[in-house]
Amino acid sequence: MGIDLGTTNSLVATVSDDVPRVLPDSEGEVMLPSAVNYGRPGEIVVGASAVTLASRQPGDTLMSFKRYMGRGREDVLHEAERAHYRLAGNREGMVRFATACGEISPVQASAEVLSHLQRRAEMALGGELDGAVITVPAYFDEAQRQATKDAAEIAGLPVLRLLNEPTAAAVAYGLDAGEEGVIAVYDLGGGTFDISILRLHRGVFEVLATGGDAALVGDDFDAAVVDWLVAGAGEPPAAAGQYRQLLAAAKAAKESLSSSAQVEIGLGDVWPGATPVTLTRELFDELIQPLVRRTLRACRLCLRDAGLAADEIDNIVMVGGSTRVPLVRDAVAEFFQRQPLLDIDPDQVVAIGAALQADNLAGNRRGDDLLLLDVIPLSLGLETMGGLVERILPRNTTIPVS
Ligand code: ADP
Ligand code: MG
Repeated sequence: MGIDLGTTNSLVATVSDDVPRVLPDSEGEVMLPSAVNYGRPGEIVVGASAVTLASRQPGDTLMSFKRYMGRGREDVLHEAERAHYRLAGNREGMVRFATACGEISPVQASAEVLSHLQRRAEMALGGELDGAVITVPAYFDEAQRQATKDAAEIAGLPVLRLLNEPTAAAVAYGLDAGEEGVIAVYDLGGGTFDISILRLHRGVFEVLATGGDAALVGDDFDAAVVDWLVAGAGEPPAAAGQYRQLLAAAKAAKESLSSSAQVEIGLGDVWPGATPVTLTRELFDELIQPLVRRTLRACRLCLRDAGLAADEIDNIVMVGGSTRVPLVRDAVAEFFQRQPLLDIDPDQVVAIGAALQADNLAGNRRGDDLLLLDVIPLSLGLETMGGLVERILPRNTTIPVS
């Protein structure tokens, strides 16, 4: 199986009869929210049910814990504070959250998500699995990758290989079948924006450059709509609860504007007696234009790092729920002067690529002995005297290597 262990949502996919597909839960839902609730000892809650507990037990409900994988406590103090988490321990060491179930590391929380998806796959396929390909962001360093492997080990899940998320997306589109090519992967989710430029050379994907805008995420589209609603109503939302209601209304409106020209937003729940307002796609586009432009700025920087011009990109792969917004698609097409690849569901494309790679590694593909290889994104070395580092494996070395 292939697992997309995401910041907001995780998915599992497998290949049967050469056809990859994502596996739904018993309710038909394919996305598992990456959320784990540790509110009651002996009872760990994973997924959508954990999300519903988040407002009541914010400190005990871990979300977006992928951000904390493989990182030291000191590095994440501000981030954790903003997210209302209580960090255990003092100063030194890796991140651990203080919860009603004791100290929990981001690795343990990730293990819960992995176990959940593993059980889902075992039920769907009726039996034991050989193992999983798990995807990680291209910019993950060695500690973050090792933390991901540790999570799989806790879950008792054999890891066939870790695969870079943008590489998985490219594999889902079959771009690994070509000999050469340069691919841009534009990933705008809810909680992250990443741009990666890959070069395919003799069947090996090399990460030429990665970038993004850490301060910009798909959920900011919702906030832009909320600002507009508040300005129009002429009264500031009094409580945090109201703000959350407005955010939910804005998110729903944004999502339906991807397929309709206008949407009516009812506000009676927030401000009693308020009349519904109409948001057109045109106006929505205006509201988010500055945000979309910022993603293009990050693309420009990434191209510069890769030493390439926009017209040297052969394919653009779109990943993440927010790439359903028509303005985003149009802006990316215009920037690269080429239509991006859109056929595969942008929520599922990473999991599907991981499943194809897992199928390959498990030896299920007859007459196809080509193994996709990946590279290490950062150089590895040993610290010698005086804090100097002796580089042993330079970045972009194909792996595995010894
Ligand atoms: P992440 O990479 O952070 O795990 P996802 O790829 O799951 O996130 O994307 C989630 C984001 O996609 C949310 O902000 C959600 O509102 C947005 N989204 C989902 N469907 C649509 C849609 N039809 N139109 C616009 N945005 C959408
Ligand atoms: Mg994602």
